[in-house]
Amino acid sequence: MRKQENCIFCKIATGEIPTKMVWEDDNIVAFHDLNPQADYHVLLVPKHHSESILTLAEDEEGQTVIGQLLQAVLKVAKILGLTDSGFRLIINCGPGAGQTVMHLHIHMLAGRDLNENLV
Ligand code: AMP
Ligand code: ZN
Repeated sequence: MRKQENCIFCKIATGEIPTKMVWEDDNIVAFHDLNPQADYHVLLVPKHHSESILTLAEDEEGQTVIGQLLQAVLKVAKILGLTDSGFRLIINCGPGAGQTVMHLHIHMLAGRDLNENLV
C-alpha cells in the first residue's frame, strides 16, 4: 500500500492527523469533511495513495482499490442512514474540476437543499 509524504489524506489514513471518522477498514477510511457542503458530507478515501481516478486506473493495485472504494459506499450509506433517502457521489479529477487534495477521494453528499441542477 503506497503512502506519500506530506499528503494530508495519507496522514489521516494512518491516524497521524485526527479526524471525525465514520468508518474504516484495512483499505478505506471514511470521515466527515472539514468544510461540509451539505447536511451530510463524508469523504471516502483509499488508504493506498493515488492522485486521481486517472492515475489509479493505471495503477497495479487500481482494480482492487476501485472495488473496495465502491463497496465502502454501501457500508457508509448504511451507517449514515442514507440508503432510502439517497445521496450524491462526486469525484473531482484535477484542478480544473476543483480537486484540491491530490489523493483520490469520493465526496458523499446528502440532506436538505442538495442542488438538483448539479448533475
Ligand atoms: P476536493 O476539492 O475534491 O479535492 O476535496 C477536498 C476536500 O477535502 C474538501 O472538501 C475539504 O474541505 C476537505 N478537507 C481538506 N482537509 C481536510 C481534513 N483535514 N479533514 C477533513 N476534510 C478535509
Ligand atoms: Zn495520499
